[in-house]
Amino acid sequence: MAMSHKLDFSRSRKRMVDEQIASRGIENVRLLDALNNIPRHLFVEEALQDQAYNDYPLPIGEKQTISQPYMVALMTEALELRGGERVLEIGTGSGYQAAILAELAEWVYSIERIRSLANRARKILCELNYYNIEIRVSDGTRGWKEKAPFQAITVTAGAPEVPQPLVDQLAVGGRLVVPIGDVFSQTLIRVIRTEEGIEREDLGGCHFVRLIGKYGWQGE
Ligand code: SAH
Repeated sequence: MAMSHKLDFSRSRKRMVDEQIASRGIENVRLLDALNNIPRHLFVEEALQDQAYNDYPLPIGEKQTISQPYMVALMTEALELRGGERVLEIGTGSGYQAAILAELAEWVYSIERIRSLANRARKILCELNYYNIEIRVSDGTRGWKEKAPFQAITVTAGAPEVPQPLVDQLAVGGRLVVPIGDVFSQTLIRVIRTEEGIEREDLGGCHFVRLIGKYGWQGE
């Protein structure tokens, strides 16, 4: 890649962080640093790389998308990561959010139901030298029992209701962020597990592809 092109991408990245993310109220410095450092354009196909830092999701094949940068930031901030956590991500997709989580936590376990996407994500994350991410192909609505409990769980696809196995696999004090709603629009929900039970908070409207699985939507 030509040097000038590389510089263009880092400039676009800085503009993305300033204009789409910091300006909308995301304040976590470690998160802003991660967004500034991770080459988001490498997580999309070459023909779309010039759009990688724009304010919208992009297709990644298999009718799936890499989420809008601001949505990735909002969900990640809500997880309140400090560095020592085991994080579970449902919906690896391009692998971009997994990279962000890997910068902010100790271990990232990510589940993707479509094998070709999981393979592509593994390849790019390996090329970028991420050694603290494990990706598995399965139905993420069932969680990842062997690795539980998790201090943070993020679901990057929209569900009809909060998948119970994910709540069960949350550590006490842990945060789960999941878009809940119908197929057209959802509300981002944060569930916090406490000693007494669970607390539920509404973080605002959003739009995601469907979470397909036993505790999600029934689908192909
Ligand atoms: N976090 C991703 C966004 C991916 S879009 C990124 O940064 O690029 C949501 C992904 O969830 C899609 O790849 C879709 O295949 C996957 N998905 C949907 N239902 C799933 C399930 N039950 N288990 C695991 N992955 C699922």
